[in-house]
This record gives sequence, structure tokens and C-alpha cells, in this order.
Amino acid sequence: MNTATKPFHVVNLGKYSEIDYNDAQLPKKFLKELLHLTGMEISVTTIPAGVSFPFFHSHKENEELYIVVQGSGQIQADNELIDISEGSMVSMRPEVKRSIRASKETELIYLCIQAKADSLNLWTKTDGIRNPESEWVKE
Ligand code: ZN
Repeated sequence: MNTATKPFHVVNLGKYSEIDYNDAQLPKKFLKELLHLTGMEISVTTIPAGVSFPFFHSHKENEELYIVVQGSGQIQADNELIDISEGSMVSMRPEVKRSIRASKETELIYLCIQAKADSLNLWTKTDGIRNPESEWVKE
């Protein structure tokens, strides 16, 4: 089957602490194309200990969800500083001016999911369809 038409895709980055960023300018990997996503973007980023991203940005139409998977640091959202650590999730409307930094002691590894704000019409039980005829494929 042609991978462009395959309805699911698998990427394994390995351990978050050992992600290979060799082909990227920043320690950030965008995964939309690898995963053939059409309604969202996802990236993984590792900020070394003590490093602040110098740029602030906002978005035209995408909201973002930052999910910290390892380490700690801070996100600035407009004029507010938010402490973040493993397990933190921070969502932001497109217009929020934001930047992110790692603490002095530890690198910060996070996922960022982007999707068009106000685009979700159905979710959880209203979008899920039970398929009772399906069963596990035999290994
Ligand atoms: Zn962004």
C-alpha cells in the first residue's frame, strides 16, 4: 500500500532524552509530515539547561498545547510567567505572545500540538464510534 494513502502512520522517536536532532537547526522536530497529519501539527523540542529561546511568537489561527515530558522551566504567556515541569500542560489561544525556557539545572523536553482554534466540532463520545465487530489481529 502506498504510504501516502495509508490511513495510519507510526513514528518512534526513541527515548525523549536521546532524540536525534541532527537534521534540524534547533533541537526541535516537526512531525506533521512524518505522521501525515492533516488537522494538527506536533513537534518535540529539547531546550538545554539554562537556555532561553530568545524569540516570542504568537499564531495566526492555531492554538497550542505544550506538554512537558521531562525536566523543568518556564513559559511566558503574555506578561505571565508559568513554572512548568514533567506533567505540566499549558494551552494557549493563538494571539498569546509566548516563549519558553529551561531551568538552569535541567534540560526541558516538551511536545507542542497545534490545531486551528475553534475548529473542534465533535470530541470524545460525540466523535467516537464503537466498532463491536472488530477484534485483535492474531499475532
Ligand atoms: Zn507556536
